[in-house]
Amino acid sequence: MEPLLPGVLWRPLSPDNDEPPISPRILVFHTMVGYLLGTESWFRRDGYSGTESTFGVGGEWDGQYDGVAFQWQRIDRQADAQYAANGYANSVELSDGGDPTRPLGARQLAALITLTATWCQVTNTPCQWVTDPDHHGLGFHSQFPEWNTAGHACPGPVRLQQLRDIVVPGAQQVLRESAPTVLPPGSLEPVAWTPPAVVPPPAAPAFPLPAGHWYGLPEPNVRNHSGFFSATDRTGIQTWQAQMRARGWSITVDGRFGPQTEDVCWSFQQEKRLVVDGRVGPITWAAAWTAPVTRS
Ligand SMILES: [Zn+2]
Repeated sequence: MEPLLPGVLWRPLSPDNDEPPISPRILVFHTMVGYLLGTESWFRRDGYSGTESTFGVGGEWDGQYDGVAFQWQRIDRQADAQYAANGYANSVELSDGGDPTRPLGARQLAALITLTATWCQVTNTPCQWVTDPDHHGLGFHSQFPEWNTAGHACPGPVRLQQLRDIVVPGAQQVLRESAPTVLPPGSLEPVAWTPPAVVPPPAAPAFPLPAGHWYGLPEPNVRNHSGFFSATDRTGIQTWQAQMRARGWSITVDGRFGPQTEDVCWSFQQEKRLVVDGRVGPITWAAAWTAPVTRS
């Protein structure tokens, strides 16, 4: 897991970072009751030994920091923002210019949607609200008493409504659109990528005759098989004739190697640049299945 979130400004609070390692499974939303830079300087006073949040997002009252996200602590280290959740949660403080009844502005919302989606992706966490502190997902500071021993309303009803109606659905949409490498909303497991099915090349049935034998017009050669004298030979010739007919050739499927079959064999061998002998040996046999069809 990358300790720094992509797209976020890394703003360490001090060179020394003695906070214990954690494996975050919840992202907790807060409101600052303050400004982005003011909150940062307050966090900096005590470095990592005091209170701090993992992330912060600026708002309209922060000037050029409107919609800018800071990261103050590594994802894999504890940040002390919400009591019992510190050991398993990352936190994001949302600037409100000192007034938590102010709604999040457009740039702040956009930055928070991106941050939330990216965080879910990087930490492999479902993009959905937790309903129990043991779950994996998203939460807000006043959601559970053990996260909020002071009993305050952070992040307040106005901002909570925006988190529910805009931020979380927005992050879910981002994750859906960046498939397939991300989690689907509501899933604990990443989507497994299934390679497309490999289409095997066409296979020809085995050539039915012994090596050195062929199908051809009747002739007094023991290696020649015409189908006129043996039912077994007719089966093989029928198979080849049927395949040639399926490829579009005018050929009667009768199991007998007569002049019509020979003509088709000649033409096919010429077309496919095979040895042109008017006989069906193993190569001409297999080409009936493996050679591309070019005749219309
Ligand atoms: Zn809070």
